[in-house]
Amino acid sequence: MTFDPETVTFLIAGPVRIHPRVLRAMSTPSLNHRGDYFHAVVQEIRELLPVAFGAKGHQVVLTGSGTAGLEAVYSSLIPKEGRTVVVANGNFGDRTDKIARRYGPNVTTVRVPWGQGLPVEAVRAELEKGDVRAFCLVHNETSVGLVNDLAAVAPAVRQAGALFLVDGISAVCGIPLPIETWGVDAVVAGSQKGLAAPAGLALVHLSDRAVAALHPGTFYLDLAAHVTSLEKNDTPWTPAVPLFLALREALVLLKEEGLEHRLARTQRLAEAARAASGALGLELFPDPRYASDTVTALRNPEGLGDPELRKALEREYGILVQGGQGSLVGKIFRLGHMGIADWPDLLVAFAALERILGKHGRLPRPGAALSEIVARMP
Ligand code: PLP
Repeated sequence: MTFDPETVTFLIAGPVRIHPRVLRAMSTPSLNHRGDYFHAVVQEIRELLPVAFGAKGHQVVLTGSGTAGLEAVYSSLIPKEGRTVVVANGNFGDRTDKIARRYGPNVTTVRVPWGQGLPVEAVRAELEKGDVRAFCLVHNETSVGLVNDLAAVAPAVRQAGALFLVDGISAVCGIPLPIETWGVDAVVAGSQKGLAAPAGLALVHLSDRAVAALHPGTFYLDLAAHVTSLEKNDTPWTPAVPLFLALREALVLLKEEGLEHRLARTQRLAEAARAASGALGLELFPDPRYASDTVTALRNPEGLGDPELRKALEREYGILVQGGQGSLVGKIFRLGHMGIADWPDLLVAFAALERILGKHGRLPRPGAALSEIVARMP
């Protein structure tokens, strides 16, 4: 098949497929970003952001990818005095560690091998040592398809009095994150994941406590400046105007669907993807108890590397899934099923996987994966 971006089945771990309404929203003439029309767009975005976060708070939109949101939060909230504790159990935990160390002089990283669940006891022990002012955690480790159990450590973070800073980039709108119940102070979301908007914007939620603790970090990503501007339906610098228009439409779509519905659909798709994978004899990479509902990460079967599996999906069936990162390149592949991903996407992907495995004489039972999916469809 010739690769055609207009017709592919798009199941990478973000960016995700974008609804045509959202795409069309970007094709407008240039707008004056200081004019009334655009201020009204920003106002609508502000009013809709609580739908995405499932909570009210100080919420800003930054021009820049998810990492810009992380840098904004860590540079403005990692304390210059006192300790910061970070957890790393995947590539994005490692990135948190790198950014946190750039801004904080006293960072402790609790590490476990990629794909292992949150080391709750080790985290509690670090928090109990005292003087922890910030605790940074990736909610959903996209790199290994693993969800970290925030609820298990939230009471200890509160007890320690630390700011709870969460990378929710591949979790927001895909995995429940009760911000207020868990006492989370900052959450970063990426426009290109559960929200199903184009890549290039970072959304940041901040608690009152976090806003009170903001200190100047980087100039461009100064959160205090963004909070103040957004309260006036403005942005401190020239924003990515077309992306803001797309974000507004993606938020309207989310509101029409309802956050609860999107979360439930994502969870059902994930359950179906896991069951279908099991029926194909494919093994989950992360500890299955913590398998992510937005990204399913699977080990490549023995002897079948990227060319035979992932590249064949793309070449022969026009289906895009994602490979592994870092040391996992060629060892795992990842299917994203967040945002507006839906049942037909899964059916097509698993039908193709069945055929590929069949060709290699590795298919346990023809039709088994599809039956698992069909059995779970509403
Ligand atoms: N954190 C997590 C959990 C992610 O999934 C990603 C991207 O996939 C990032 C951080 C980095 O975001 P971006 O590539 O948008 O800068």
